[in-house]
Amino acid sequence: MITSINPYTEQAICSVFAAEEPDVDRAVQAARKALKHPEWRLLSGTERGHLMNRLADLADKHGEVLAAIETLDNGKPLSVSRSYDVPHFSEVLRYYAGWADKNPGSVIDVGPKKMAYTVKQPVGVCGQIIPWNYPLDMAAWKLGPALSCGNTVVLKLAEQTPLSMLYVASLVREAGFPPGVINIINGRGGEAGAALARHPDVNKIAFTGSTATGKEVMRMAAGTLKAVTLETGGKSPLIVFDDANLKQAVRWAHEGIMANQGQVCTATSRLLVQDGIYDRFVERFKAFTEETSVLGDPFEPQTYQGPQVGKAQAERIMSYISSAQDSGAEVFHPHKHPVPSKGYFTPPTILTNVGTKTAAFREEIFGPVAAIARFSSEEEALEIANATRYGLAGAVFTKDLGRAHRVARDLEAGMVWVNSSNDSDVRVPFGGVKESGLGRELGEDGLRGYYTVKAVHVNLTDE
Ligand code: ADP
Repeated sequence: MITSINPYTEQAICSVFAAEEPDVDRAVQAARKALKHPEWRLLSGTERGHLMNRLADLADKHGEVLAAIETLDNGKPLSVSRSYDVPHFSEVLRYYAGWADKNPGSVIDVGPKKMAYTVKQPVGVCGQIIPWNYPLDMAAWKLGPALSCGNTVVLKLAEQTPLSMLYVASLVREAGFPPGVINIINGRGGEAGAALARHPDVNKIAFTGSTATGKEVMRMAAGTLKAVTLETGGKSPLIVFDDANLKQAVRWAHEGIMANQGQVCTATSRLLVQDGIYDRFVERFKAFTEETSVLGDPFEPQTYQGPQVGKAQAERIMSYISSAQDSGAEVFHPHKHPVPSKGYFTPPTILTNVGTKTAAFREEIFGPVAAIARFSSEEEALEIANATRYGLAGAVFTKDLGRAHRVARDLEAGMVWVNSSNDSDVRVPFGGVKESGLGRELGEDGLRGYYTVKAVHVNLTDE
């Protein structure tokens, strides 16, 4: 069993079944069987889309319950679960329901004697492993494109936050999906997750989580040459040039690192600020953070920052802060309200004078910790920004159009925001380069990992 803990009260919510290797095997066999079953295999794309839309409608209908579960299990403010996590879950399903009958193959001109065409076919059984920071939404990002393309799935939830998607499992049946098409399991990463990544009857693995685990998953998947898509860690830069709109830069820089308790893979956690605006930016950023960061009960409407997901995570963040302090950084915790004495809270943190070679500047902290460094020239900004093994995202603040596009081009990242941060969209591809991942989710590109292209050659002659 796995006991799910409420990170605000530090009390157990409930214990849920932890799948082990034989359970994973049963789920995979169910998915294999469903893949061949006419009830799923013979559906048109339009009909698959109807099922997905029905699930989205049910998620909306149960939205209040789902939002409350998400907040209880993860610690994120209810206002956010309600306004973002739940609506985004159904938004993603509807977006990919729309693609289900709009993803055709092609006919290729090979001369009069022959016809050649391609069809897009499902990859097969997809193993999907998700993290705990957006339990509903990471599930939707995985289920949406997989179902749209006609695959069947075994989705493994994160052991810290299984409850919202276990609730969705009951809605899957009500939506009318044939048995075995969507299998949702909960289990420990090293057991259930590894069993899925190794399983010979799984055709594809999609993973979101840390870079270290992503590498491990890829190694295991290599055993049977599974298709792999990975969305892993990041340490994304946000570059503020002297000519930036200061108010705008401060507002997005704050959102980019403090939203969701800083537990966002695309968090813009390294702020690079040009000399001429540096002092004013730091002062305004501290003031804005102090004003905005209301820590407390995630069920209270005024709360901006809830607890971190768990004790280990909170301790890890605090150890990065003390190591930064030890290596000479100045540490600020701008918040008006006291940090609650109970719950796995970490204060919003701003580090200045932080060496660009230190752990706090280089490693993914996954908490509300912004490390600020200064730069003089565009060239220097890019050099610092790209001096990382990660390449998930980046942001640039400037009014200079030419510079905005140059920097967007030269940042080694899968995504760049100009004059905003973490402003992702279901219609736009999401993913990283370097050690931040492989493949894309969301948008039309998100479909690519979920179909194979079959070529058919037809001889039109009697030869
Ligand atoms: P974090 O350290 O942030 O919890 P992980 O990358 O360890 O991130 O976890 C993300 C997901 O990967 C979770 O569902 C977890 O259970 C799973 N996981 C962890 N270790 C493994 C592993 N060795 N094989 C497969 N999945 C794993």
